[in-house]
Order: sequence, then structure tokens, then C-alpha cells
Amino acid sequence: MPERSMCVQTRETCIECSACTRACSFLTKYDLNLKDFTHRPDLRYSCFMCDRCKAVCPVDLSGNRIAYELRAARPQDAWFTSFWKTSYKLRNNSPVQSKTLLFLGCNYPGYLPKTSARMIELCESYGIDFSIDCCKKPVHDSGCTPNMHPLDALFARKGVKRVICCCPNCFHFLRSRYPALQIMDPYEFLTEIGFTSTIHEEVHVYFPCSERFDRTIYEHIKPFAPKRCEQTFRAIECCGAGGGAYKREPELVRATHARVNSMNAANMYTYCSTCAGMFHAGGVKRVKNFLSEILGVHEVPSTHYARNVSAFKLRKHRVGDCCVQG
Ligand code: SF4
Ligand code: SF4
Repeated sequence: MPERSMCVQTRETCIECSACTRACSFLTKYDLNLKDFTHRPDLRYSCFMCDRCKAVCPVDLSGNRIAYELRAARPQDAWFTSFWKTSYKLRNNSPVQSKTLLFLGCNYPGYLPKTSARMIELCESYGIDFSIDCCKKPVHDSGCTPNMHPLDALFARKGVKRVICCCPNCFHFLRSRYPALQIMDPYEFLTEIGFTSTIHEEVHVYFPCSERFDRTIYEHIKPFAPKRCEQTFRAIECCGAGGGAYKREPELVRATHARVNSMNAANMYTYCSTCAGMFHAGGVKRVKNFLSEILGVHEVPSTHYARNVSAFKLRKHRVGDCCVQG
């Protein structure tokens, strides 16, 4: 059965309690609740698609889905995202067969290049090849229907059965698109190979938007971080990258970063490279990435995104040199 339109559902069931407005700086700025938002297609690219509103809404309405429906009805400048990401111009894939594939997405190599390189080396030691490519979620969020054929062809050509997704956006997006494949996170893989590194300091967890409701990845991280606090950043909507809204609403992003800084919590940990990169670039210097810390890389998110992704486009694949395949 086709999914019911969220705009229609919101107009019919919203009780106008304003809980969403109080939880969201975008709605507050324009003095809207989600019902009002359904009538403001001009603001469709100002929403961070983070669904903090859904987390507080008593009738389960979703700003993410409203923004998507408004964008899909009138995509704007989405052609560039589609052109750039559908056959991702900085992709780096090999023809080698690999039943298990390390999928780094677009942003891990850009924001956390040393951590990405360490994951590649570790996987190569198990005969597992890597892929640098886009999962196509950015195309979806821009308001277009993503063309999955390039990824279909990649997985088929390589005989892929399991995909290790470093990025939580890739993980959840590909899991919804490829039910026949085993979509894994890196922590599940590290547990599988007996990796025992543990973070001993107190960690304050910042959950990426993609894990706001379904914390499959976080469940696999927990054993690596026994001293953790999960509530510290609960009221923070988004790192600023969600839905590409930072282009329209840079002052809201700056205000969010200032709010995080003023919370003065030591050891902010996240597991999304984009969140780590956005917060660090916005002046939140104590942000750390779980994967980087667990692997012992301890990487500060890089501000040389373009240089890093260019270098990864040229990185050689070593797995084809050996006969063991993951
Ligand atoms: S929280 Fe939900 S019910 Fe309340 S105003 Fe917002 S959309 Fe309507
Ligand atoms: S999805 Fe995020 S930015 Fe959009 S309305 Fe909801 S809370 Fe606000």
C-alpha cells in the first residue's frame, strides 16, 4: 500500500500544541508548527530533515517527510546533486570480486581520511575490498528519485553479499534499499574479528539524525564504551548538514554550534563523520568519532575535505593482489 502523504496527514491530525516549534530552531525562526510548514513550500530547503520534531510530536508527525514531499513536488537545483552523486564523480571502485565490501560513502574519506585509510588496511588484511561511492541518499533528500542502477551494477559485478557501511546515513539508506544484502556497521565487523579496544573515558553521545529512532549501530558501539551518557545532546536538532539546509540557514547552524559549545560537556562523541566534521568546523573542538577512537587513530576531523576526497579517488586497491576474498 502506498505511504499516506505526510502533508495531508499533518493537516488532518495536528492538534497545534506547538511542541515541534519549541524543539526546532527553524520552525521557531519562521514562527511555524508542522501544519503551517505544509503550506510553506518556499521553505522546503530550510528544513534540516532531522525529525527532532517527530520525537516530540504527540501524534507522530514528521518534518522530514513534509520537507521531502514539498521538495519532490518542486525540486530546486536538485539536478546538480543528481548529476554529481548518481554516478559519483569521485567514486573509486575496483572490478575485483569481494563478497564483503567496505563502503566508505562520500564523507568519511573527506572528514576522517586517516580513519578511513585504517579501515581500508584492516579490511584488506581480511581480503575485503573497499568502495568509495555515494549511497544516493543526498539525491533522495534533494527531492529527486535516486537512480540506484550504478550501485546495483557495482554490487552484482563484485558478487557482494555483505556491505560494511561506515556512515550511518549510508547504513540506514542502503538497508532500506537492499533487503537481500547484509548491511553491517563497522562496529559489528570489529566485534566479529575480535577487536577489543575499549574507550575508557566518559563519553557524551551525539546521535546522528539517521539514528534518532533506530539505534542499530549504537547498540553495536555500546560494548566499546562502557562509561557513556546518552542524554547530554538530546535537544540538539542537527549538526547542520541535514537536508543541505546549512546553505539556506547558516545562522541557525552557527547558533546550534554555539549552543553545543556552551553546554561544556567533555568528550562529545559521535559516529557520523559529517557530524564530526560539521561540529569541528563550527568551533566544537572536543568532538570525537567513535570509529577513529576505537581504531586508535584519534583523528581530529579534517578541514581539507576536497583535497582528501581527491586523494581517495586515486587510492589503489590491493585486495586483487591476493586470492583470499572476504
Ligand atoms: S508537535 Fe505535532 S501536534 Fe503539536 S503542533 Fe507540532 S505537528 Fe502539530
Ligand atoms: S525535521 Fe528538523 S528542521 Fe525540519 S521541522 Fe523537524 S525539527 Fe525542524
